[in-house]
Amino acid sequence: MSEETKILLTENEIPERWYNIQADLEWPLDPALHPGTKEPAGPDDFAPLFPMELIMQEVSRERWIEIPDEVRDIYRMWRPTPLYRAKRLEKALGTPAKIFYKYEGVSPAGSHKPNTAVAQAYYNKVAGTKRIVTETGAGQWGSAMAFACNLMDIECKVYMVSASYQQKPYRKSMMEVWNATVTSSPSNETQSGRAILEANPDSPGSLGIAISEAVEVAVSRDDTKYSLGSVLNHVLLHQTIIGQEAIKQMEKADAYPDMVIGCVGGGSNFAGISFPFVPDRLAGKDIRFIAVEPEACPTLTRGEYAYDFGDTAGMTPLLKMHTLGHTFVPNPIHAGGLRYHGMAPLISLMVHNGLIEPRAYHQKTVFEAAVLFARTEGIIPAPEPAHAIRAAVDEALKCKESGEEKTILFHMCGHGYFDMSAYESYFAGNMVDYSLPDEEIARAMESVPSV
Ligand SMILES: *Cc1c(COP(=O)(O)O)cnc(C)c1O
Repeated sequence: MSEETKILLTENEIPERWYNIQADLEWPLDPALHPGTKEPAGPDDFAPLFPMELIMQEVSRERWIEIPDEVRDIYRMWRPTPLYRAKRLEKALGTPAKIFYKYEGVSPAGSHKPNTAVAQAYYNKVAGTKRIVTETGAGQWGSAMAFACNLMDIECKVYMVSASYQQKPYRKSMMEVWNATVTSSPSNETQSGRAILEANPDSPGSLGIAISEAVEVAVSRDDTKYSLGSVLNHVLLHQTIIGQEAIKQMEKADAYPDMVIGCVGGGSNFAGISFPFVPDRLAGKDIRFIAVEPEACPTLTRGEYAYDFGDTAGMTPLLKMHTLGHTFVPNPIHAGGLRYHGMAPLISLMVHNGLIEPRAYHQKTVFEAAVLFARTEGIIPAPEPAHAIRAAVDEALKCKESGEEKTILFHMCGHGYFDMSAYESYFAGNMVDYSLPDEEIARAMESVPSV
């Protein structure tokens, strides 16, 4: 096996196509339903929100979809991203396991999100969109969309979850540097926001609420479209360049993963790293896929697999997915990007059929792993991928017990340089592990509509 620390590709090796897993799964994906009629939603139902090209990608069964030259050219600004062998982490753990991680923190916004933001802004520009409205949790998606819209000369408006707006003022400044307008959500600007504030003036907000606000604004104007940073099929599709690069890099390192690990909020970074490996598994290869979520928002491990709305106000189409109920407002854990009540339908379908193994951790043990990673590998991880690090460390420690030399690949989908207040709270001993009683989940689940 090669002993390189960084396994790099050239710009010519940036993938030319996105991989569409819908071509290969044997189980059909249940259709999205219209929020009013609860009948299957057609392309026209999505037309007020998205340009037609993205709607077509959403339902496509083609295995490969070509990446437009203009998008690929922008990818060159930071792609291919590096794959690292975590030698110093391995040594600190005393594990015989080989740990690799793919690092998306080298993008301008500091995460995997620009991979789809650039593609979405491109298809909107081609369709004549003048303005994009979106929401952001931790601020990662908002900054990626601001960056992409600025490159494509599209106006960008972001509703930012109030808890993050308070915790991460520099994420907001970053969006403003790239020309976007940022509003704390819930806001007084929309009916959905005003309704939430009337019931609870101190609402910390949630992705579900922010989505309601953005969708409300988008449908009210002809020149304005909406854009989602995760969950939908086309978003997961755009992220598959990550796993395609990782496959080439693992080959270069003369290695193949026994398991692929990633954190899941809406499922896009996990899909990006793992989906391109799935055809091998379907062909009989022994490879595990482990999706890691917070105990404070345990969508896959404790939610129900059912039709539910993507937003709090019930304006989006209904998606068949794991859900904690669309009115569920998670506690304000530091991994803001993992505070979502639902999950990508594709990820849910694969969990439901046993192809992906879900797992949940409390945030203190996650930060313990994040600090170990930073002290050995140098990069300070965002709180979200720190969940994947926790799982990778646990798997490596299992190998230490058993003496097995497994190969672990995990996704370091973003850096944590705007998350220092989370580390500050961890070191000060102020970090709280929120336990979530069954009754609380059951109460939120009452909002799941009967279909
Ligand atoms: C947005 C984000 C997430 C969660 O979203 P997914 O769609 O599940 O990837 C996780 N990590 C980072 C760094 C993010 O920006």
